[in-house]
Amino acid sequence: MKTQKAFLVIDMLNDFIKPDGALYIGEAAQEVTKRIQTIISSARQEGIPIIYICDNHRPGDAEFNMFKPHCIRGTRGAKIVEELSPGPEDYIIPKRRYSAFFGTDLDATLREMGISELVLVGVCTNICVLYTAVDARMRNYSVTVIKEGVASFSQEAHEFALKEMENTLGVKIE
Ligand SMILES: [Zn+2]
Repeated sequence: MKTQKAFLVIDMLNDFIKPDGALYIGEAAQEVTKRIQTIISSARQEGIPIIYICDNHRPGDAEFNMFKPHCIRGTRGAKIVEELSPGPEDYIIPKRRYSAFFGTDLDATLREMGISELVLVGVCTNICVLYTAVDARMRNYSVTVIKEGVASFSQEAHEFALKEMENTLGVKIE
């Protein structure tokens, strides 16, 4: 293995990022998409694996008791935004809950690849990014969050999550 690092691109899906999406996060979406484009193109050049983590629900999922239906499998809303289309060498891991580790094969995939360090980008800072960072840290992965590469519908929640990750979880904020 030539690298121990992987990039996780979290929930950069039409339903969160596009203005007509079911759970559009707002204007921050455009800026963060551009940033991630730059970030992953340099990661690709360095040969760092890119893993897309994608919210993917069945209709009637229990999560819809809290959030309106979004990212239903097979719909346009559940697709990765065009600007960040994955390449053939990239990994795509669907998930049903906030954490990319919950009920997915992410941990096994990372271990098989010999990955010990994760770099997180995507949305939302205080939901799927935060809870993925929690589960990664509980499993002893080193975690870096790129500040300009994450966003949320709430600036206040975004700031809180960055502080919480840095102070309580030992995440490096870059
Ligand atoms: Zn969801």
